[in-house]
Amino acid sequence: MSASPSTHLKRCTYCEQWTDGAKEYCEHCGHEHDKQHKEEVKKRTERGDPRLPIIQVQSHDPIWLKILKRPVQVAQLILYAFIAFLVYLTTVFAH
Ligand SMILES: [Zn+2]
Repeated sequence: MSASPSTHLKRCTYCEQWTDGAKEYCEHCGHEHDKQHKEEVKKRTERGDPRLPIIQVQSHDPIWLKILKRPVQVAQLILYAFIAFLVYLTTVFAH
């Protein structure tokens, strides 16, 4: 049994022919692979990481709201840093 040279074969979602998945575009019709996926990732990046919902201080916020939001932001960052540290500890001592 010999290993196939093209292990990343994937089906084009547009022309439904098998093409080299390592290439960004379909060899048959030129359709871009994972276009939908890429667009979703792009949208998610634009919206900000949903896993870290940190309060955003808007430039049009009134000054009292900015003052109110700042400590909340700092507290959130400390909390996330603490969680990241806990996750790090569990991975280190998991073995
Ligand atoms: Zn195609």
